Amino acid sequence: MSTIVLATGNQGKVKELASLLATHQIEIVPQSDFDVPDVAETGTTFVENAIIKARHAAKITGLPAIADDSGLEVDALNGAPGVYSARYASDINDNPSDDDNTNKLLKALKNTPKTERTARFHCVLVYMKHENDPTPIICHGVWQGSITLEKQGEQGFGYDPVFWQKDLQMTSAQLPREIKNKLSHRGQALAALIKKLAITQA
Ligand code: IMP
Repeated sequence: MSTIVLATGNQGKVKELASLLATHQIEIVPQSDFDVPDVAETGTTFVENAIIKARHAAKITGLPAIADDSGLEVDALNGAPGVYSARYASDINDNPSDDDNTNKLLKALKNTPKTERTARFHCVLVYMKHENDPTPIICHGVWQGSITLEKQGEQGFGYDPVFWQKDLQMTSAQLPREIKNKLSHRGQALAALIKKLAITQA
């Protein structure tokens, strides 16, 4: 059994990854177990930010580390909010809530017609063997959709209430969690990482 530290404070992500990797003889331990402090996400890409977080966790714990970075890309806004998705409404509120961010997004798209509201979620997952790993494993998941005119649905988090799935005729906040996990950017990146890790560890 090998141990990998997960560079996140999000218990949901820890549980999801731990259960998927347990069958591969890999134990996932959250970085909070090692008192790893947060690190500034100073990158301008999801890849850079995920590497910054994985390297930081590997450096402090001396263990291999996995980190993720994700966000929403909206075409009509030239790719915003992108890597700033969690902080999009920080001009309105120092520590913006999901509602603050979503309201700002709907306002920014007020005059954008339905056909031009295309968007996608990205998730980059990075695995580093150690802090100086020169060839991190990098996996990228993408989930296509569009932005609704108003919020719909109560599940999920972040921009889920405005992320429309045309095939399913619902937002990602109306999807049962297991279905979202299968379709989502995070689910896709995770499936790719598990495949690569299984090969690497074999
Ligand atoms: P992080 O990667 O957990 O820092 O997420 C960045 C931000 O992107 C989140 O705070 C959300 O605003 C947004 N985001 C990422 N993934 C999702 C998702 O699955 N649903 C809704 N919003 C998401």
